[in-house]
Amino acid sequence: MASMTEAPITTYQLYIDGQWVDSLSGKTYESTNPFDGRVWARVPDGNAADVDRAVAAARKAFKTGPWAEMTGRGRAKLMRRLADILARDYEALALAETTDNGKLLRESLGSAASWQDWYNYFSGMADKIEGSTVPSDRKNFFVYTRHEPIGVVGAILPWNSPILLLTFKLAPGLAAGCTFVVKPSEFTPVSTLEFAKRMEEAGFPPGVFNVVTGGTAEAGRALVQHKKIDKIAFTGSAQTAVAIGRSSIENLTPATYELGGKSPNIIFDDANLDAAVNGVLAGIFAASGQTCMAGSRLLVHEGIHDALLERLVARTKTIRLGSPTSPDSEMGPLANRPQFEKVMYYLKVAESEGAQVVCGGKARPDIGELFVEPTIVVGVRNDMRIATEEVFGPVLSVIRFSTEEEAIEIANDTRYGLAAAVWTENIRRAHRVAHALEAGTVWINAYRTVAHNAPFGGYKMSGWGRENGIDAVREYTQTKSVYIELEGATRDPFVLG
Ligand code: NAD
Repeated sequence: MASMTEAPITTYQLYIDGQWVDSLSGKTYESTNPFDGRVWARVPDGNAADVDRAVAAARKAFKTGPWAEMTGRGRAKLMRRLADILARDYEALALAETTDNGKLLRESLGSAASWQDWYNYFSGMADKIEGSTVPSDRKNFFVYTRHEPIGVVGAILPWNSPILLLTFKLAPGLAAGCTFVVKPSEFTPVSTLEFAKRMEEAGFPPGVFNVVTGGTAEAGRALVQHKKIDKIAFTGSAQTAVAIGRSSIENLTPATYELGGKSPNIIFDDANLDAAVNGVLAGIFAASGQTCMAGSRLLVHEGIHDALLERLVARTKTIRLGSPTSPDSEMGPLANRPQFEKVMYYLKVAESEGAQVVCGGKARPDIGELFVEPTIVVGVRNDMRIATEEVFGPVLSVIRFSTEEEAIEIANDTRYGLAAAVWTENIRRAHRVAHALEAGTVWINAYRTVAHNAPFGGYKMSGWGRENGIDAVREYTQTKSVYIELEGATRDPFVLG
């Protein structure tokens, strides 16, 4: 496998209507490797006109031609072919992602190896999108439902896990029969363009899958405001989701939003401390804390607070920062300059609020421009900004509690609700607390695991809708009720009935 620094600069084009084309803007921009600051790819700076032609292609493919006419079995066949290609190429795709976003290669490889599971799982649903017969209230009617594909999906992606988060949308959407226009993050355009090559190889007809990259938010804005898209599937920050909601309400475009969090990781005094320390690390320092489900608030029972913290700080100090492609590294850089600045800003915020840094807290320019130490902050109150706002970096806020009720109250006292974890050996408490937590995913004695067949999504400002699991296909269909009159009877035309 080539190392990142050896990679040549590759120039990409947009993928629209089954063709590789330059942007109508005539412009490109550069994608930079966050580890060494090296430009490694040049991609089109797509604009509203590119979005227009991509949406037109997706609409045409949805309405007429091979995809529109294909049965569920045909779609499933293409999806399984894609799964096989992804299984073959996962190493190259993982490397592209790591080179774009600086995530540890072993994390990217683990994720990429699993993408095929989504396409295989949802391919099994493509020919099982069944309506129902509705017991009619009137004898002369036969009533049934159809779940029809919603149409053209505008998918907007963040930079932390581009293809996994695309897959959360694309796999159920393809099973349903939708077509897609995808706008990857300006910071991580390459893996989505590489993925498009695999869609092409799998044989998806022109227009089913289109990619418009852009160096600014222009293409994304144009896409979500477009009158000819039928659904927005967005993963990113709550702030951007609100902006998208405002601009897309003009067209009343339905949306699923997968957003950020300030997830509580709750450790009770009967927890297995070694396992809990490991789970806390996984929650906040994996991927340098740049995960939507980061366990960024550590709630610790006062009885074990000091013992847990001692172990946690000792382990955190041994975390090895370094090249994302080195098997020895445990944390890579932050993914881009604005994200680095944001994390450094929040370290100042924590300090100004009176919280104390017990570990880390500094940038590490000696390793690379965008490295920040894994940081633990104590003396945090749940109403401080460091405990309420998403940092999206390796910064853990530690909060004490004394009772189960207090732990639940603190855990839920946030505008977010994406994930949470409970560490206890008491099975009754584990379930009781899991039920009381306002979060879309709760782990018991574990942290940061997702699966293609388990629903994922947020309560409160962590999102709308669910991805993954059987019901995810419903997010890409709309239901039609069909009434058939059986007896040729006439009735009072001026009365509802
Ligand atoms: P972001 O909100 O800044 O950007 C996300 C995408 O939206 C990018 O492609 C961007 O170009 C686009 N965008 C920006 N403004 C837009 C606009 N006005 N209209 C349309 N598109 C626009 O998020 P990010 O910094 O790329 O990613 C980090 C965020 O994503 C964090 O908040 C994180 O928690 C969240 N996230 C959530 C999940 C999840 O599944 N819940 C997963 C990963 C990341």
